[in-house]
Amino acid sequence: KPMEGRISDIGPRKYDSFFPEVIKKNFGKWLYHEILEPGVLVHVAESGDKVYTVRCGGTRTMSVTNIREICEIADKYCDGHVRWTTRNNIEFMVTDEATLKALKEDLAGRKFAAGSYKFPIGGTGAGVSNIVHTQGWVHCHTPATDASGPVKAVMDTMFEEFKNMRLPAPVRISLACCINMCGAVHCSDIGIVGIHRKPPMIDDQWVDQLCEIPLAVAACPTAAVRPVKSEHDGKKVNSVAIKQDRCMYCGNCYTMCPALPISDGEGDGIALMVGGKVSNRISMPKFSKVVVAYIPNEPPRWNTLTSTIKHIVEVYSENANKYERLGDWAERIGWESFFELTGLEFTHHLIDDFRDPAYYTWRQSTQFKF
Ligand code: SF4
Ligand code: SF4
Repeated sequence: KPMEGRISDIGPRKYDSFFPEVIKKNFGKWLYHEILEPGVLVHVAESGDKVYTVRCGGTRTMSVTNIREICEIADKYCDGHVRWTTRNNIEFMVTDEATLKALKEDLAGRKFAAGSYKFPIGGTGAGVSNIVHTQGWVHCHTPATDASGPVKAVMDTMFEEFKNMRLPAPVRISLACCINMCGAVHCSDIGIVGIHRKPPMIDDQWVDQLCEIPLAVAACPTAAVRPVKSEHDGKKVNSVAIKQDRCMYCGNCYTMCPALPISDGEGDGIALMVGGKVSNRISMPKFSKVVVAYIPNEPPRWNTLTSTIKHIVEVYSENANKYERLGDWAERIGWESFFELTGLEFTHHLIDDFRDPAYYTWRQSTQFKF
């Protein structure tokens, strides 16, 4: 039924129609909130009402069975209410301590198998919350890595930090499976970014049958694509040429033209970016910077990737001050010291000369002394 005051009924219903009663009653009248223990928050309202929130890690791709089980828990303890955070954590909210205790015990008892967690409680405060990733490896044109695979491997490595809050500050880890970064990875403490390292291949036979050549030309941000006459099977065909030294392997042309495939088992891999954040505590929000230019795709467990991330987080944890995000710490000690302490190699691959001041990189930083 149409919602009152809504111009149309297109899209999801207005958010407040989903509020639990206690949230509806105390909307806009909350006094404070605190984290009682990893994964458990309490919000206290002016009326004295309390809401206890239990946060659990969720899988990003969920089966119907998994969602049904989540709904069953929500029906049992939360009058059917449940919410997902932007990091795909699942949050159950209850209003008294006895239900909170029963809910926590129930969640802890649900397992896929002995020793595994189905609904691990955590992801709050100064730890590693759920890792978000883009979904392109399933359906998109340009992924250079799997998304769920590396995320699962990294989260398994970092899992103790999901359940504890012993890091100096939150560490947000995100993955984008190509440099288009539709998952906003560029503002994460640690960004895992799929990269191509070779220009697209040109399939002359199909270019003018599968794509509008002007669109493929216009799609290139560096003007590397131009229309040419080529030859296939002894016949003249309309095709394109790619100026190799202009190409930054973004794959935009492939999005426009399926005859320009860019995926390459040998060339594709992962770059690691560090130090971004959207918070303005201590310092302004900032973009992450590339600190490892290339890590090969190593399914099924991405060992180099996981050990590099674990190492960066360990060094950060040992050296940063309380409340300092990874980027704040690196800026305070100087990025030269970041590379010295972590032992990561600083190479010319980490330097670019892109001129837009919104994306200042190493070369434009007068503080950088290597
Ligand atoms: Fe597609 Fe790139 Fe987004 Fe992945 S990050 S879903 S490949 S645009
Ligand atoms: Fe241009 Fe990107 Fe295609 Fe290279 S991959 S030719 S930079 S659109």
